[in-house]
Amino acid sequence: MDRVYLDNAATTPLLEEVIDAMVDVMKTQYGNPSSTYSIGQEAKAIIEENRRKVAAYLNVTPAEIIFTSCGTESNNMIIRSSVDNLGVQRIITSPMEHKCVAETCLEMKKMRGVELVYLRPDSKGDFDLAKLESLLQNSEKKTLVSLMHANNEIGNLLDIEKVAALCKQYDALYHSDTVQTVAHMPLDFSKIMVDFASCSAHKFHGPKGAGFAFIRKSSGLKGIIVGGSQERSLRAGTENVTGIVGLGKALDIAVEHMNEYANHMEDIKAYTIEKLTEKIPGILFNGHSAERGTSLYTLLSVLLPFKNPLIGLQLDMKGIAVSQGSACSSGAAKPSMVMMSILTDEQMDNCTPLRLSFSHMTSKSDIDALAKALEEIKEATIEKMNV
Ligand code: PLP
Repeated sequence: MDRVYLDNAATTPLLEEVIDAMVDVMKTQYGNPSSTYSIGQEAKAIIEENRRKVAAYLNVTPAEIIFTSCGTESNNMIIRSSVDNLGVQRIITSPMEHKCVAETCLEMKKMRGVELVYLRPDSKGDFDLAKLESLLQNSEKKTLVSLMHANNEIGNLLDIEKVAALCKQYDALYHSDTVQTVAHMPLDFSKIMVDFASCSAHKFHGPKGAGFAFIRKSSGLKGIIVGGSQERSLRAGTENVTGIVGLGKALDIAVEHMNEYANHMEDIKAYTIEKLTEKIPGILFNGHSAERGTSLYTLLSVLLPFKNPLIGLQLDMKGIAVSQGSACSSGAAKPSMVMMSILTDEQMDNCTPLRLSFSHMTSKSDIDALAKALEEIKEATIEKMNV
């Protein structure tokens, strides 16, 4: 059975060039980067070369990039340390954030007594920035705003330049989870004045187990993993040289082909919208997902006009991998906070959300296979309902 992989927002396959670069380092660079002899210093130099690469992409200084193990670690570090070391007493966030942000914020409320304020989205998944401004205006408490750049379930893009400017105006710190946008679009942090951001290499054909946190100079943030003085004492532990090389190589390729990949995926997304609209009358697209410019080009969030909680499994049996991003995230039985925040009760009861996410390797024949499978499942579901 040919496999169709449409869950690239969850993770992406490693590119051959990335594997080659990592294997080369694994074979030759076994030195500990903290050692003073040459084989250690060579490994250290490789890390610094990749740090400069990341910094150049974001238009920041290399000292502002801290390599970590993943997006989850970066987000944890930023939020926890903002509370523990920067005196944050209030966090403004949203029910649309990734679990690693949502859970960390909740823990800061429970364990540290931080005030947690949620900015609620409308039915399109948009936030009222005037409301954010009034929240920022009306508190004396040191505040961290944590609002993601692109939503990983519905793809909505937030104007983080505007949010960052508001935060600056009212002296709040701004953390943006940029896991779904790093390497997929240009990001200039000399203009977008976020204080903190996060990245995960496996979202752009790099390895799992490698990511970074952007920590603006002078923020005073400290690490949460202590021990050695690696990563300017912000993240102790012997560096994952292989993973960092994989991250750097994947970023190189993504940046070099950014326009070409974006055009390809926009094309695939338009084709998917056309095909699914033809095969599944009544289908809807969540948030800004079906629009250009206001949504990730890598992702299409659909709402099928029938209820079938087993659809992920049924598609998998036909060789198609997608995320249900809805009634259950990663097999969990609880409904997704994102879907509960934007869908009506009637939609939650009678419809089935699906997240389709693309890469530059996705082809129109993948989409044809998906459309055919969904049409078959729709017919079988409706038939069963009528029995
Ligand atoms: N933030 C967002 C928006 C994500 O989509 C993900 C991964 O799904 C993460 C954070 C967590 O990243 P990682 O898998 O590297 O821990």
